[in-house]
Amino acid sequence: MQVCVNNQQLAEAVSMWRAQGKTIAFVPTMGGLHAGHLSLTHQAKKNADKVVVSIFVNPTQFGENEDFDNYPNTLEQDLIQLKACQVDAVFTPDKGQVYPDGFESHLKAGSLSQGLCSDSRPGHFDGVVQVVHRLFEIIKPDVAIFGQKDYQQLLVIRQMVREMSLPIEILSGDIVREDSGLAMSTRNQYLSTEEQEIATKIYQVLTQLKQVVLSSEALAPAIAHSKAVLSQDFKIEYLSVLDANTLKSITDNTAQIAILCAVFLGSTRLIDNIVFDKG
Ligand code: AMP
Repeated sequence: MQVCVNNQQLAEAVSMWRAQGKTIAFVPTMGGLHAGHLSLTHQAKKNADKVVVSIFVNPTQFGENEDFDNYPNTLEQDLIQLKACQVDAVFTPDKGQVYPDGFESHLKAGSLSQGLCSDSRPGHFDGVVQVVHRLFEIIKPDVAIFGQKDYQQLLVIRQMVREMSLPIEILSGDIVREDSGLAMSTRNQYLSTEEQEIATKIYQVLTQLKQVVLSSEALAPAIAHSKAVLSQDFKIEYLSVLDANTLKSITDNTAQIAILCAVFLGSTRLIDNIVFDKG
């Protein structure tokens, strides 16, 4: 496994593979790797000849009072795990490689970025599309894999690729959960053992709400009840039942539903979702 710290090293690896007619799958991450990230690398391996994983904590997607400065850095363990997954190259650029002096991105996230996470993290998805587009420029993958865990991000990236006609296939990876149901997240490291136990309620509430949606019972009281349950332990940012493709209210034409939530447990922000057919 090659560890490329600058654009040139990566470009050399990529052009050698291209000369050999190999296809390339790309998995962007911010490090602090867990089994969720690793599942994306397995999916990547199944979908291309070579797999590149990036580890870059992108400053432009963090707000002022967020955890950019404290974001977990576990690079040594990350590299051991990626090697065990037979990843071909890991790209660990510093900020200057991704955003060289004078670099200005005018990219803005599309309409699917509105609402949900954007309400509390204005500009977050602009930062996400800027870094992903920049990494796409450097790596030029055939396929890129994003987790369903960050569902709005996945849709925003798909929208960018569609609108810019980028020749990159975007695949989605299922959410990997702890046995308790808690969605794996780098930020789970911030939780105490007791908080990790409390955090299992998020998936329980999402699952119960899904049953209500499928049974066609009235939605508004069910959402209100779920919020009341969650608010016993969490500060709720949003809990929404939406059309999974448009992130708008459900209509008769809705084929797939997404139940999405973001909550704070103490100072830790956690997101989760379930996506399912309307039935
Ligand atoms: P991050 O390092 O948090 O930026 O995440 C990198 C990628 O891993 C994103 O596409 C995430 O959606 C994905 N990811 C994060 N957590 C999980 C999980 N529990 N299961 C599957 N994919 C995940």
